Amino acid sequence: RVKAEGRNALRVFDNELDAIVQARRMLEADLRSALSLGQFELFYQPVVDLQSGAVRSVEALLRWRHPVRGMVGPAEFIPLLEESGLINPVGDWVIEQACRDAVAMPGEVRVAVNVSPVQLRNRSLLGVVSPVLARTGLDPRRLDLEVTESILLERDAALLDDLRKLRDLGTQIVLDDFGTGYSSLSYIRMFPFDKLKIDKTFVDDLGRSDEADAVICAVIGLTKSLEIVSTAEGIETEDQAILLRAAGCMLGQGYLFGRPVPLAELCFEPRDVIRAA
Ligand code: C2E
Ligand code: MG
Ligand code: MG
Ligand code: MG
Repeated sequence: RVKAEGRNALRVFDNELDAIVQARRMLEADLRSALSLGQFELFYQPVVDLQSGAVRSVEALLRWRHPVRGMVGPAEFIPLLEESGLINPVGDWVIEQACRDAVAMPGEVRVAVNVSPVQLRNRSLLGVVSPVLARTGLDPRRLDLEVTESILLERDAALLDDLRKLRDLGTQIVLDDFGTGYSSLSYIRMFPFDKLKIDKTFVDDLGRSDEADAVICAVIGLTKSLEIVSTAEGIETEDQAILLRAAGCMLGQGYLFGRPVPLAELCFEPRDVIRAA
């Protein structure tokens, strides 16, 4: 009896697995045509100076307008794009669209683009980015490229060289989601980072315990001594913004200052964020 039940459970599990695999296949098939059907859109979220409230940059965040599912967020489809290799053509589109959009933004505002580690494998980032800059006419000094800690593990000399060359053009290299990976602090020094984004999970813990506050202060201290600009992600409350500013964090991003919105709805006015300290 136990055995029979075990078999039944397995069968149910099997069926569920089939359903998941099937759903993934359908999603992937839809993804294959999404680019040519023009279903991808870029939303933009402001990054503000925590002292002055000025909008310093906007981050391009990919959205998929699915005919049936409606607006789909990147968490649901970026992994699929990465596994299927579709991230390369889609990522190229993102870079081009963001640069095109940025040309029409106020000249002092930078645009930040997320780059997947898969896009950096077997391809030259410089080879992708420089023709786009030439085509769109965007000043390379207005572009930020956001990469995650996983690239620190791939000790890729060609990539490092590309990052240095881009940096020479004035494009800034940003370490995104800092603290969620497992990078050794010594690696950070080897890469030419201009900015570091402290992950939202740290910001969420702010003010909850002395230990959490100490960790974030230490990270901000590290950026200062490495002469890297610190950005805090996922700021939702004024208290978080005040604590971060007091700790010396330079830039902030989060719903407090504005959610990701379509280009047409983007507001470049300084945020009147922070009550006098
Ligand atoms: P990310 O680069 O760390 O982007 C920040 C994410 O945090 C965005 O989620 C943003 O909407 C969200 N966020 C910002 N402020 C707040 C806040 O105050 N509260 C909360 N709860 N969330 C906030 P989104 O747009 O869903 O993007 C998720 C991730 O998908 C991004 O994380 C990035 O890793 C990836 N992604 C987005 N667009 C692209 C893209 O064009 N290419 C690649 N390769 N990855 C992308
Ligand atoms: Mg990012
Ligand atoms: Mg991030
Ligand atoms: Mg994040």
